[in-house]
Amino acid sequence: MPARTVAVIGGGVGGLVASNALRRLLSPEHRVVLVEKHLQHTFAPSFLWVMVGARRPEQVVRDLRTLTHPGVDVIQAEVVGIDPGAQRVETTQQSLSYDYLVIALGAEYAPESLPGLEPAAHSFYTWTGAAELFRALQAFPDAGGTVAVVVSALPYKCPGAPHEGAMLIADYFRRRGLGGKVRVDLYTPEPQPMPVAGPALGEAVREMLLRRGVGFHPLHKLTAVDAAAKELHFEGGRRVGFDLLVAIPPHRSPRVVRDAGLANEAGWIPVDRATLATRHPNVYAVGDVATTPLPGRWKPDVPMLLPKAGVFAHGQAQVVARRIAADVTRAPATVQFDGNGYCMLEAGETMAGFAFGNFFATPTPQVELRNVGRMWHWGKVLFEQWWLTPPGPRREALRLSIALGSRWLGIPVAV
Ligand SMILES: Cc1cc2nc3c(=O)[nH]c(=O)nc-3n(C[C@H](O)[C@H](O)[C@H](O)COP(=O)(O)OP(=O)(O)OC[C@H]3O[C@@H](n4cnc5c(N)ncnc54)[C@H](O)[C@@H]3O)c2cc1C
Repeated sequence: MPARTVAVIGGGVGGLVASNALRRLLSPEHRVVLVEKHLQHTFAPSFLWVMVGARRPEQVVRDLRTLTHPGVDVIQAEVVGIDPGAQRVETTQQSLSYDYLVIALGAEYAPESLPGLEPAAHSFYTWTGAAELFRALQAFPDAGGTVAVVVSALPYKCPGAPHEGAMLIADYFRRRGLGGKVRVDLYTPEPQPMPVAGPALGEAVREMLLRRGVGFHPLHKLTAVDAAAKELHFEGGRRVGFDLLVAIPPHRSPRVVRDAGLANEAGWIPVDRATLATRHPNVYAVGDVATTPLPGRWKPDVPMLLPKAGVFAHGQAQVVARRIAADVTRAPATVQFDGNGYCMLEAGETMAGFAFGNFFATPTPQVELRNVGRMWHWGKVLFEQWWLTPPGPRREALRLSIALGSRWLGIPVAV
């Protein structure tokens, strides 16, 4: 059997899982190369804790090379060209030929695409942004005021995160004794919280927000921000003032993906939802950079796409690794991505809810929310610790705890 090269581009959630799984599945003569421009690997769900001071920024970052399995060839470089015809990737360090390519380049932010947003807004969607926002929350005057959390455009990653962010900010001010003085409002162009998860889940999350004093404002499409006047401008003419603005920035795919002609009109790479195959032979895309329409629709005005979330990037990467390994060894590739996903929704007071279900179910996704409680919060902490622990006995012990705990609870957490 000839030695093969699998190139994985992007070392975030999907790329890290894919390259580690490939290294475990393939014998040593096959090469697994991981190309990543930033060796500082961050765990994004913990940005929410950095934002309220529950983590120091350095606690949620690791050198990527400590998280990869021995034998994964990590190249620090920016991917500047992808040529599926020639089976070649151009990077700022070298030109790389591959037999199989896994594109896991994620999404990038484009705050400059909304007038006035960049100078006015904080954001917990980046590692540095979360740390800066913590300082802004600390500096917020004791006299009180209003905090606006705004989903500035669709799609965005992690459908739960804006809701968690708003609840954690409200919790931060309650703990500071300013509960009655600081108003937290969440604005989104969506018709309800997390519309892709169906109406019942949306109602449950709306209830969570209301209980924690967060004002929820659906169908608010941001058109501009007046930084000087501290005012949000929404489609239809509504203007709303704020003292502190926290924005989920507009997202787009990395330029190299668009330049390579891999993206659809919306800018994302269309893939087969079960196999993650693109239209190019032996080229797969996983995670945020990929787009997958969901079967069925329950509202004509809501685009039904698989949400951009780490849980899906993770599951898809495992499937792709197994399919490539099967192909390399000429075994039948039967494993498929099933659309199962879950999310621990941080609510403040070291509590979280737990949403899980099947996003490929028809006619609507079958997603349920378990009651808010401490267990889900500590489950998220356990997952964080597992993710940030280098391969070895401690990581394996954490993995077993998660696997046994989720089996006991009857929930689908695949680690
Ligand atoms: C605040 C926050 C909270 C979140 N919470 C959750 C949660 O609780 N649960 C959940 O499931 N998801 C959550 N997410 C979403 C999750 O982090 C993403 O969906 C996930 O990281 C996507 O994985 P990915 O591999 O597709 O992309 P990423 O993890 O973003 O990785 C992409 C990688 O590609 C690299 N890259 C990009 N362009 C290039 C290039 N040209 N050359 C080389 N490298 C490049 C980037 O540096 C990056 O490391 C959260 C996100 C945020 C921001």
